[in-house]
Amino acid sequence: MQDIFRHLEERQGQALETLIRLCRQPSLSATGEGLAATADLVASLLQEAGFQTSLLPTQGGPPVVYGELAGRSPYTLLLYNHYDVQPPEPLALWTAPPFEPTLREDCLFARGAADNKGNIAARLATVRAFREVRGELPISVKFLIEGEEEVGSPHLAAFLRQRRELLRADACLWEGSGVDWDGRPVIILGVKGIVYVELEARGAARDSHSSWATVVPNPAWRLVWALATLKGQDERVAIPGFYDEVEPPHAADLAAADLIPAQEEEQKRSLGLKGFLLDLAGPPLQRRHLFEPTCTICGLASGYAGEGVKTVLPAAARAKLEFRLVPRQRPEDILEKLRHHLARRGFGDISVKPLDMGELPAHTSLEEPIIGVVAEAAREVYGAEPVIYPTMAATGPMHPFVHELGIPTASTGVEHPDSRPHAPDENIRLRDFLLGAKHLAAIIGRLSPRRP
Ligand SMILES: [Zn+2]
Repeated sequence: MQDIFRHLEERQGQALETLIRLCRQPSLSATGEGLAATADLVASLLQEAGFQTSLLPTQGGPPVVYGELAGRSPYTLLLYNHYDVQPPEPLALWTAPPFEPTLREDCLFARGAADNKGNIAARLATVRAFREVRGELPISVKFLIEGEEEVGSPHLAAFLRQRRELLRADACLWEGSGVDWDGRPVIILGVKGIVYVELEARGAARDSHSSWATVVPNPAWRLVWALATLKGQDERVAIPGFYDEVEPPHAADLAAADLIPAQEEEQKRSLGLKGFLLDLAGPPLQRRHLFEPTCTICGLASGYAGEGVKTVLPAAARAKLEFRLVPRQRPEDILEKLRHHLARRGFGDISVKPLDMGELPAHTSLEEPIIGVVAEAAREVYGAEPVIYPTMAATGPMHPFVHELGIPTASTGVEHPDSRPHAPDENIRLRDFLLGAKHLAAIIGRLSPRRP
């Protein structure tokens, strides 16, 4: 593999150029800005790397960029990425403009540099290196790059169901991983599901003078009372049946979680916290973080929240509410239980509007052969023991890949713990960018048929 590694080192400038081209192109799935142009750009980059490429339509969303490159062996690795990014706001908190990629001290700063155009560019560099050094790929590679991951991939599951044959693969490498605070490579084998709703309480037809609070209902109070019934101060979700479908984690997954190095001090420092919820620390903290479902108030809005005083009785109150789900919990089921609970507690007047169709949790077993391959390759390239997350606390559209197409899936990537995805000054370090490309090369090397 040294020949490929050397080539990747020599051509890092070219790989960086590719990344800069990608990051200069805004691609906001929240507004649609630049998505078509980015899909075209990604397709042409795949073509330049040797892929047979097409833009495949989705039902109502931006196209999926699809590429296929046959190698010496029919063993097929599917690479999943997305070409959309989160909105860059608040712009004032960026050191340099988000769509003008800027190099500072071994880091490239730009919206999308980490999440996840850096990963796309690193993977393309690996494919190019094999073709330039050896003339071909030892295995076959399929590349699926969607354009609406950052808004919950609403059309991806239907797209996959229609293209089962096209997407047939032996294993899948996901995006979104990288190294931890100690530089150890992180491999992730699952995601939580999600359901996200907006609750709205309505009172009078319009805002009133607050002296009317004696006799006019206040929707802000209604909403606060309703929210208070959803979770106790013991952090348990109080919706009846919420935990009924939860499948307890397997012993091997618990053991893997317990091996994850504690980086609590770094995390607390980064977040400016004195301690975590329930005073948890060590393995119980990690287990709760990975395997517990959540109920989170993501936003609250009502009345006047500007500077100074406004004596107003609001006409409406809204809350954004999110549930992260663990294996066997289903978005529709949780939504129904939420509605039923609110009605039963006398809050049937509060409307519950799902803001996306939700995502199911997904999980690949530690025993899948590809997981051993990805871990060994990481050990070789990073010179450190990989950290294996049996699942992660966040969400992605992994369920149809793993549980409908039956493809074992692991996340790898080029991020570092201070990459700031979704936030101002998003960035990657150039050394992680190179290591990510080498890691994929080492994985492909291990999957290659032995030369006769
Ligand atoms: Zn993201």
